[in-house]
Amino acid sequence: MSRSATRFDVTRDELGAILAGQPRYRLDQVWAGLYEQLASPSELTVLPKALRAELEETLPLALVPVTEQTSDKGETVKWLWELADGTKVETVLMHYDERSTVCVSSQAGCAMGCGFCATGQAGFDRQLTIGEIVEQVVRAARRARDDGRRLSNVVFMGMGEPLANYDATWAAVERMHGDIGLSARHLTVSTVGIVPGIRRLATEALPVNLAVSLHAADDALRDELVPINRRYPLSTLMDACAGYLQAKGRRLSFEWALIDGVNDRDQDARLLVERSRSLPLPAHVNLIPLNPTPGYAVRGSPPGRVREFRDRLREGGVNATIRRTRGTEIDAACGQLRAAHEIEASSVVVRPRR
Ligand code: SAH
Ligand code: SF4
Repeated sequence: MSRSATRFDVTRDELGAILAGQPRYRLDQVWAGLYEQLASPSELTVLPKALRAELEETLPLALVPVTEQTSDKGETVKWLWELADGTKVETVLMHYDERSTVCVSSQAGCAMGCGFCATGQAGFDRQLTIGEIVEQVVRAARRARDDGRRLSNVVFMGMGEPLANYDATWAAVERMHGDIGLSARHLTVSTVGIVPGIRRLATEALPVNLAVSLHAADDALRDELVPINRRYPLSTLMDACAGYLQAKGRRLSFEWALIDGVNDRDQDARLLVERSRSLPLPAHVNLIPLNPTPGYAVRGSPPGRVREFRDRLREGGVNATIRRTRGTEIDAACGQLRAAHEIEASSVVVRPRR
């Protein structure tokens, strides 16, 4: 099946062309309806009925829900979506006390091959389009509103490597900021360390947050855990991180999935402190015990070790927080829902009404 532009792929100018023959104010009405009111054309009662029906047809949604699962008493919602060509991607919405964050996918699958990651284990399917990325945010924002919340944050920590799909990722970021109205401070791009992408990001006008998935602070271990390190080794990566900080004047974070006996030793903490403090502003470290995946034998660090590792970092003068693992009972870690779905390929989970 060929792919055509979906509802959130269409630019404002393209929508203008679709609305040719309509009064000029229609463009504003429809654009605000889609991005500010988070509405479907059929819900835009300011439009004539025939136009609503026509727009529903011309601007189809990209994401068809396969499963929707909730956990943590409704605080975490995870969707597995099917795209027009049958590809599957996932999105996770997390409500916290003070914010609601959506974790979006930037690619179907991933070509980076990190062995500990369920998405990496499954390989690369294809790039997502702007519309397929933006729609994840719009659908989550709408769900948040239904839950009496307001979507405030977006993290590119679902499936895929956002900087390996740079153009669509950046266009989606601009749409989230300019049209949906999310603050750039609340948008976070997470990367495995694609150096040219980080350098390009440093030249963009919007100062989004950058999270770098480090996981190892020496090249020998990082080459093993994160194969792209062989192409962009730590010296080059740290240089690009320093450049980003200088250009943006904002803190960046290192993501560190603690793997039992592999990267949770005192010597790992020591090297990480050095790397973090070598930057113009020390990086903040987010620690998370590795989530188990079917294709990786090693386990996450036990809770006591996670706390000790955090304390070592703090003693070294580096800020570190332990990320709350969310939705583990619905496999809300990276790529895991799709993996689970492909193993079971059965259960369609219907969200309980609240
Ligand atoms: N490709 C990007 C963004 C998607 S991965 C990146 O790698 O940064 C989002 C985050 O989940 C990354 O920090 C990644 O290292 C982490 N991750 C992947 N598999 C994981 C696992 N099994 N347990 C814990 N974190 C994992
Ligand atoms: Fe891709 Fe990120 Fe998973 Fe590595 S951790 S395989 S870069 S999604």
